[in-house]
Amino acid sequence: MTDKKPWFKETLYPAIAQTYAMDKVLFRERSAHQDLVIFENAVYGRVLALDGAIQVTTRDEFVYHEMMTHVPILAHGKAKRVLIIGGGDGGILRETLRHKSVKHVTMVEIDRAVVDMCLKWMPSIAGKSFADSRVNLVITDGAKFVEETTAKFDVVIVDSTDPIGPGEVLFTERFYKACAKLLTPGGILVNQNGVPFLQGDEITMTYRRRRKAFKVASFYVAAIPSYYGGFMALGWATNDAKASKLPAATIAKRFAKAGIKTKYYTPEIHAGCFALPAFAAAYIR
Ligand code: SAM
Repeated sequence: MTDKKPWFKETLYPAIAQTYAMDKVLFRERSAHQDLVIFENAVYGRVLALDGAIQVTTRDEFVYHEMMTHVPILAHGKAKRVLIIGGGDGGILRETLRHKSVKHVTMVEIDRAVVDMCLKWMPSIAGKSFADSRVNLVITDGAKFVEETTAKFDVVIVDSTDPIGPGEVLFTERFYKACAKLLTPGGILVNQNGVPFLQGDEITMTYRRRRKAFKVASFYVAAIPSYYGGFMALGWATNDAKASKLPAATIAKRFAKAGIKTKYYTPEIHAGCFALPAFAAAYIR
């Protein structure tokens, strides 16, 4: 029986690819910025891909969104103002808003089509987050925003596509320097930094660039099934060296006070996620 179903082939790497059966294509369009497709898959639920790269699936999105949000916010301990760059699917926004201590979130997304289409076809991710009175959604290039804003933030979360296409500017030294300037003392920047086993050069690249803007530039890890190739590295940058060294007991107290239920994040995982395997740490050079 020939397999008549169309398959989505991720084109992130030249020599390997992952493919997903597209049980149903829900949306496909070239926006002003990128190729957008949302489809249904029996294993991952609903899947968003941008310019040929898997971005988010309704089945495993909780891993990345919890780790990209609760680690910096609970490490900071007193974050009131959060800036999200990218994150069009709304998952980071949803997790950020679960912190009642956060009083304001600015989210800067370049492509309105991603927000609109994820709300329409993947509503379980953002839920009602965009309607929260604490949210200020700005549709523009994140690199432009951070250079022009006079606002200050306690945590910056860069939930961008990979350093190709519109996302490329979000991996530059200039961008990191602008982020360092808009962070309050003790502020923390985290960024999507790829899968070390397949994108190790991106570890070295962002480490060198973030080190020019922050006293501490390192990584922490999380295992996200749809970002295949082993665990993913999440960039960490701050001037507060202690922020990534909090004991699990301190984190556990803050987590309990926040009263948040999670499916991946735990205070123990938070305390341990900065421990990098030797091969990944070797890219920090
Ligand atoms: N979690 C995904 C990952 O790790 O690859 C990223 C998901 S999110 C959909 C990525 C978002 O970054 C997209 O909505 C894209 O439009 C946005 N983006 C890319 N370049 C941008 C830029 N220069 N400024 C603001 N948003 C940007």
